[in-house]
Amino acid sequence: MKLILLGAPGAGKGTQAEVICKALNIPAISTGNIIREALAQGTEMGLKAKSFMDAGQLVPDDVVIGIIKERLAKDDCANGFILDGFPRTIPQAEALDAMGVIIDRVIDIEVPDEKIAARMSGRRVCKDCGSSYHLEYKAPKAEGICDACDGELIQRKDDAPETVLDRLAVYHKQTEPLKDFYSKKGILRIVEGQEEIADTSALTLKALED
Ligand code: ADP
Ligand code: ZN
Repeated sequence: MKLILLGAPGAGKGTQAEVICKALNIPAISTGNIIREALAQGTEMGLKAKSFMDAGQLVPDDVVIGIIKERLAKDDCANGFILDGFPRTIPQAEALDAMGVIIDRVIDIEVPDEKIAARMSGRRVCKDCGSSYHLEYKAPKAEGICDACDGELIQRKDDAPETVLDRLAVYHKQTEPLKDFYSKKGILRIVEGQEEIADTSALTLKALED
């Protein structure tokens, strides 16, 4: 199954991507994570992306399209994959089409703007392995420490309240039109983000079936 997860920043795409990854045993591919890794390693691509990312803007299409082309060519994608955070613009979606990738389903996780800002302020990420947490919804076992690798949990620079508003504006302007794009193809399903992660996960898994 080839899937796309759509939704505003902080809607919980990453968490749902993990849930589907476990349920279907297909890789979850996050362009945000790939870019952050490149940045941590100091690659040219990472450095090029940094200023856009920190400002809450999208990284240029040609950069992320290149990342996805490379990633989807790997063996583990043969039986399907979940794209978390790609495509984020119409040209990115068109690039997937041009690559001959046939998407089976697009799940759009809807969370009202008013709730996004509050959610983002509680978000934490492991400095070392990139695992994500939430102080309220997905707390680590020990405060400030990653369950997976004992790394330090920090707040992402682009999760700062000022930047979150910019990211939301970018989402509405550049990414939301994708709902229409995929709705016209008949493969869009809407999931209302719930207060409890497990409740959202149940809705997500159901949306894969119908
Ligand atoms: P979130 O889901 O919380 O918005 P991500 O980790 O998916 O965060 O993305 C963080 C940042 O990485 C984005 O704000 C953007 O700068 C960059 N990025 C990730 N994916 C894409 C993409 N498909 N196109 C352009 N920029 C991207
Ligand atoms: Zn970690």
